[in-house]
Amino acid sequence: MKILVLNCGSSSIKYQFIDTHEKVTLAKGQVERIGMSSAVLTHQPHGKEKIRIVGEILDHTIAIEYVIAVLLSPNHGVIKDKNEIEAVGHRVVHGGETFSGSVLITNQVMSALKENIELAPLHNPPNIKGIEAAKKHLPNTPQCGVFDTSFHSKMPPKAYLYGIPYELYKKYKIRRYGFHGTSHRYVALRAAEMLNKPYEKLKIITAHLGNGCSMAAIDQGISVDTTMGFTPLEGLIMGTRSGDMDPSVILYVMGKEGLTLSEANTLMNKHSGLIGLSGESSDMREIEEAVEQNVKRAKNAFEVFCYRIKKYVGAYTAAMGGLDALVFTGGIGENSCKVRKLVCDNMNYLGIELDDSLNENVKGETLISTNKSKVAVLRIPTNEELVIALDTEQIVLEQRKSTGEVKFN
Ligand code: ADP
Repeated sequence: MKILVLNCGSSSIKYQFIDTHEKVTLAKGQVERIGMSSAVLTHQPHGKEKIRIVGEILDHTIAIEYVIAVLLSPNHGVIKDKNEIEAVGHRVVHGGETFSGSVLITNQVMSALKENIELAPLHNPPNIKGIEAAKKHLPNTPQCGVFDTSFHSKMPPKAYLYGIPYELYKKYKIRRYGFHGTSHRYVALRAAEMLNKPYEKLKIITAHLGNGCSMAAIDQGISVDTTMGFTPLEGLIMGTRSGDMDPSVILYVMGKEGLTLSEANTLMNKHSGLIGLSGESSDMREIEEAVEQNVKRAKNAFEVFCYRIKKYVGAYTAAMGGLDALVFTGGIGENSCKVRKLVCDNMNYLGIELDDSLNENVKGETLISTNKSKVAVLRIPTNEELVIALDTEQIVLEQRKSTGEVKFN
């Protein structure tokens, strides 16, 4: 099935047009600076040169019109008719407690999505705009929502409840939700396939380390704990986010510096993490360069980053009562052998033994632990778009079956 996968942010839309049968991305690209006169559309058809178009794109509806137009373009396109887009899969950040799996988007689903806006005020509104825009241009094409949160929806209360008055959970749904679910699910499943072992029998820790970072403890196929919480701020040190800390710190700083709520929010989300600690960059490549040059603050940032991950490896091994596989993914997880090395250093007592040579020479999906290592350590490039496309395909096929609809191509 040919599926358009959309990831809509407030001023950008990333897209991939995927053939699920061949598991190949026929074209991919993004529209940036939506709402500005100098918006940019970058488009890359499979095996061809990337093209760049600059123009005025005032909103998501126009942006998606451009995306469809470029997919249809005689020179750079990959389809001849809009109907070749058989379904649209949308990445939706927050499904709250309502969505424990991917869904076909109906009017009822749209209402529920709108009810969840309060939980993700920055992310869900552009996701909703993207769905509405896609519906406008492709009114007869099924649309599905795949949530970042839903893979973690089976976490037990002991993992998702905070130690605050229970009434606050009941009243405002304040609990841990977790994010990056599609990525954690994808790499955990791939790990089981690579190890040729049943997914339902494995205890896996996945570390998605990108600009945003999170880890998940996946016991017998179920995410039983994850580091991100009510919002994607909790847990690991990230490019610009603080991760875990004593909540009193923020109250204290707000008092001392006279910060408003919004300023405090910006401090924690945009000026903390690697950039805050190092004062250099939020980009791990630049942090590593500064470490090479012995810049003390960059060294601190690098060590705090890796130490936090190491602590969670220990914590999640304890939570699951054992560990079979540790998976690294995301821009940092896939590319930084130094991060992987420091995280796994001195973990023999847990059965983790990295093979330095394999770790330094990774390519594609690679097992990077030694033959003796009880725990398999793997580097697996993530593919969230493929998960969204495959979920969408499954939902559409089920819907066709249940409505008795037969499609002739
Ligand atoms: P996002 O979370 O926005 O999808 P990515 O998964 O692309 O981000 O990850 C971005 C991070 O990956 C950045 O910190 C970047 O520095 C890091 N990264 C990319 N390539 C390398 C590399 N070769 N070595 C170390 N870090 C890298």
